[in-house]
Amino acid sequence: MGAMRERFWERPLGELTQAEWEALCDGCGRCCLHKLEDEDTGEIAETNVACRLLDCSTARCRDYPNRKTYVPDCLQLTRSLVDKLPWLPETCAYRRRAEGRRLPRWHYLLTGSREDVHHEGAGIAGRVISETAAGPLEHHIVEWPE
Ligand code: SF4
Repeated sequence: MGAMRERFWERPLGELTQAEWEALCDGCGRCCLHKLEDEDTGEIAETNVACRLLDCSTARCRDYPNRKTYVPDCLQLTRSLVDKLPWLPETCAYRRRAEGRRLPRWHYLLTGSREDVHHEGAGIAGRVISETAAGPLEHHIVEWPE
């Protein structure tokens, strides 16, 4: 990871370096879960089914640098995409900074612990099932707390 400026997370998203952008993710894992979109209404239902590359116990990608090789449609979050993804959780660091809000108090950049996101209930570690074992997504619709 490249050098990062002091308290870079307080800068506008557009000013962040690539390393700072990557470091902003709190690791909640919510964007690695399948969603279902209603064709008629556009409404999005969330599930507890994770991408096959996600380690369900830690909510970490098992091969982040090479993920596109295995999952070509894996989302690459960019500054312009942040505003177009209504399902990004309220707690998502990118969403919050795009809306001019601070990071949540449990964000690892503030606390030093990457486990806090899960202890505080915003992360999905230990609460999801891999797509390799889940069966039909329709059986796994959930509402994640915000
Ligand atoms: S929802 Fe936001 S903070 Fe959570 S894993 Fe995805 S990009 Fe990171």
